[in-house]
Amino acid sequence: MICVSIGRSRHKHMLAEHKHLVEQGAKLVELRLDYISTRVNLHRLVVDRPCPVIVTCRREEDGGKFTGDEAARQTLLREAIAMGVDYVDIEDDIADKIPRYGKTKRIISHHNFRHTPADLDSLHAKLAALDPDIVKIATMAHRPDDNLRMLDLVRTSEIPTVGMCMGDIGACSRILGAKYGAPFTYATFHHERALAPGQLSYDQMVSIYRHDQINADTEVFGVIADPIAHSLSPHIHNAAFAKAGLNAVYVPFRVPADDLAKFIADVPKLGIKGLSVTIPHKEAIAGSLTKFSPAAKGIGAVNTVLFRDGEVIGGNTDCQAAMDAMEAALGEVGADPSPLKGKRALVLGAGGVSRAIMYGLKKRGVKTTVTSRTRSRSEKLAADFDAKAVDWEARGLGDVDILINGTPIGMHPNVDESPVKKSCLKPSMLVFDTVYNPESTLLIKDARDHGAKVVTGVEMFVRQAELQYQLFTGQRAPEGVMRETLKRVIGPVKY
Ligand code: NAP
Repeated sequence: MICVSIGRSRHKHMLAEHKHLVEQGAKLVELRLDYISTRVNLHRLVVDRPCPVIVTCRREEDGGKFTGDEAARQTLLREAIAMGVDYVDIEDDIADKIPRYGKTKRIISHHNFRHTPADLDSLHAKLAALDPDIVKIATMAHRPDDNLRMLDLVRTSEIPTVGMCMGDIGACSRILGAKYGAPFTYATFHHERALAPGQLSYDQMVSIYRHDQINADTEVFGVIADPIAHSLSPHIHNAAFAKAGLNAVYVPFRVPADDLAKFIADVPKLGIKGLSVTIPHKEAIAGSLTKFSPAAKGIGAVNTVLFRDGEVIGGNTDCQAAMDAMEAALGEVGADPSPLKGKRALVLGAGGVSRAIMYGLKKRGVKTTVTSRTRSRSEKLAADFDAKAVDWEARGLGDVDILINGTPIGMHPNVDESPVKKSCLKPSMLVFDTVYNPESTLLIKDARDHGAKVVTGVEMFVRQAELQYQLFTGQRAPEGVMRETLKRVIGPVKY
């Protein structure tokens, strides 16, 4: 279950949000009395409540806004109990001052905005001794390991426990608590109005993560990156799981570079079956793997990890996705010989994406030239994949059949930039821009104006995700779902 926290300064807005949320399907809300800027009229807020409520009035030191007299705050909580509200949130240090009465259930809570204490078990035992119906512990996560310890506490505690880690490292614990038996999780009314660090919105919990369907049997997949906040992968993988009716969830895990090895070692404890891997871990993860696919080995970068029978297997679907997208534009995917064979390609940029693409081009007999701002990087790629390196200034001067942009030039917000002049493009060319936000970059628009064939970054992104889905589940991704979802999400989300 999802408990939506409502924090508004006026009663009428709190009531309106409560009503709206129930219309959207919410079954439990938290009324944050500390957000109300006038004298609190509890009766008005709870008498005709459209769904059960938790009444909370948080002090500043616990992340709240209540600045009044402590006696007045405790009186409000006692009043809420006397009115028979469904739950009241009582901080552990005042638990003995707020007696149990009637049917109101007691949530005994503890917040730590600095860190996640080493001994969570002792903390939990202390709270469990304060006559709770539910124990709530929210602590700040600094390392992925904090989530693991918190979820383990939720899983093993006899008293129903909502254990969450705050901050964006902790966001995954808000989604996964349900798998380990947490009675509910907290979400916010709107994703831009989080009441606690790392809180997701009700809409995100429902429409992206299908939180209400997460249970002990739910299989966990995810993406590891740092930063993680803007990853679009959770949108598209979860949409595909939903369409296929799989009991699976795909979760964003922010894993700082220094914590990668420990996180991968802890994966069996979290029960994760597969991961997408992105910046900055694509190369460093090699040290944690027991097996590599030939592509991952040849490229020297991993974008997919599978956990099977004690093995940690690295794969790379970026290369296959890029090759399939170009082959589809020129002929048949997987044809032998490839429709790419014998063509001349110019690759712009010498980073990770260019590396994956050049591995595939070499395998298909493409004559490749690479260029990048930093000459030494393109020379290294050229040496690794039997290609030629040219100066960045010389891009667009030669005759090529395929032009590939592996730089971020043209990506939002720099949508009026293109890596090459329009005059370099020809109708006979295939132009492939790996940038996917926006889909129609200036380079793609210029290429279309010239009548050239195009492959967009969306095409590659969707194909690499569909190939991952197949590795994760052993099934083909449901047709079109990832593409439609990505286009829908990219539309409004510009970053
Ligand atoms: P990367 O490893 O950081 O490499 C970026 C490359 O672009 C480097 O060669 C860099 O040159 C060059 N570059 C960056 N800014 C530039 C500029 N203003 N002018 C000229 N060159 C510039 O990044 P990556 O992982 O390869 O990703 C590159 C792009 O690929 C991303 O921005 C993204 O749009 C796209 N991508 C697409 C997909 C997909 O599935 N469609 C997946 C991943 C990435 P220096 O070495 O000189 O800095």
